Amino acid sequence: MEQSLEIFDRLVRELLADEAQNPVAEYIPSANLYARLDLKLQKDGISAAELEASLKDLIFTTPRTATNGFFNQLFGGRQDKAILGDLLSVILNNSMATYKAAGPQIGVEKVLLREVCDMIGWDEKSGGTLAPGGSMTNFMGMLMARDAYNETTRHAGVHQKMTVYTSIESHYSTPKNAAFAGIGRDNVRHISTDAYGRMDMAVLRQTIEADLEKGLHPVLINCTAGTTVLAAFDDLRTASEIAKEFNIWLHVDGAYCGSVLFSDKYKHQIDGVENVDSFTLNAHKMMGTPLSCSLIVVKDKTHLKNSFSNDASYLYQTDHDEFNPGKTSLQCGRRNDALKFWVLWKSVGTSGLERIVDKQFALADVARDYVRNHPDYTDYSIDDSVAICFNYKGIPAEDICTLLYEHSELLVGYGSFREDTFIRLVTINATNEKADILKFFETLESFVAEHEDVFSKLLLA
Ligand SMILES: *Cc1c(COP(=O)(O)O)cnc(C)c1O
Repeated sequence: MEQSLEIFDRLVRELLADEAQNPVAEYIPSANLYARLDLKLQKDGISAAELEASLKDLIFTTPRTATNGFFNQLFGGRQDKAILGDLLSVILNNSMATYKAAGPQIGVEKVLLREVCDMIGWDEKSGGTLAPGGSMTNFMGMLMARDAYNETTRHAGVHQKMTVYTSIESHYSTPKNAAFAGIGRDNVRHISTDAYGRMDMAVLRQTIEADLEKGLHPVLINCTAGTTVLAAFDDLRTASEIAKEFNIWLHVDGAYCGSVLFSDKYKHQIDGVENVDSFTLNAHKMMGTPLSCSLIVVKDKTHLKNSFSNDASYLYQTDHDEFNPGKTSLQCGRRNDALKFWVLWKSVGTSGLERIVDKQFALADVARDYVRNHPDYTDYSIDDSVAICFNYKGIPAEDICTLLYEHSELLVGYGSFREDTFIRLVTINATNEKADILKFFETLESFVAEHEDVFSKLLLA
């Protein structure tokens, strides 16, 4: 063990030093991967020195998702205290099914979930759990919705034509989960949005009414807090009125921006969240913890038990169900994802979490102001969002993003809303500073200037 820890320590220090100089890793086309790197496995083992050299080559050529050159996905940066927590959970290697195997780590998870429920304004009846990512916590929300609608479903299977409502801007996990849940992709209604990317509540109501008239069974409204492209927030107050009127489960997919819960300044975007049935948030997005750390909280935790408990005499041998969270989990063996978030929270306090969220919006304002004040840019962003959407000099977004990647300049992606396709810069990395955002634009502009021949051809095409 000692030797492995030493290797780890050396490799990480070398990597961090190199990242400071080179925020974007060497681009290796997938077609060249196996020629460039020795990834083969062989019959006999190798020495520690050979292993270290091989690992160094591997980690140095791996995309750098924590640097100020990464704006590609909805995570980024490193919150070092969260990393400390995650490293400890690897060393401890508990499974979060039983108190017998995880002891106080169960308490860590319970305290974390309790605190989130309290912030929402929910009482002791509420509860929650963690699962490996927002797709999975959304899946749990859907299963509870399905089972709450008809409690015989868990035993008899789906035997009604159930329907689910989500906006066209929502995450793809909803149709995928509908397939898993036996509801079926075809029974997901994709509701149109307004000009700001928010679900159109009038269309939602009409669609539900039309389905009820056809004798269908609406079981779930899925609202989004932070849509994937624009980072828009659906109107939870109106959605919860509709959900109540038609007696439909309301889930909020806050995987991306649900962490606005921690910000006094921005939590108005999830106004009404106390009225929903379940709520998902990914701490590995806005909170900057390592992947993955996804929480689902439920206003009435008996739904968790109804949908996910199963007796297993070989597993649950001691302690009360309250401390055996395997009874409310999608999984059996379960990694301790709570500790990293708890260590971060313990270290910086709730006000520190608030600063992390507010910083992202402040960086977004820097980027949005830049785009809006420079005539070479076309702006497609909405206000108060951590996604800045723009085009530069009319160059197709796909081309510019791909070339930036292939030249190891910047990792940034593109998205579409309605008729437009644009570069989408996400300011999710709270360890960035204003200078890093300005450097992004500087890099982009000088890259385009250097490759003017390529880009002018693209414009003519
Ligand atoms: C990221 C995201 C998800 C999926 O979360 P994973 O942890 O990647 O599975 C779901 N919904 C939204 C809105 C997201 O941004």
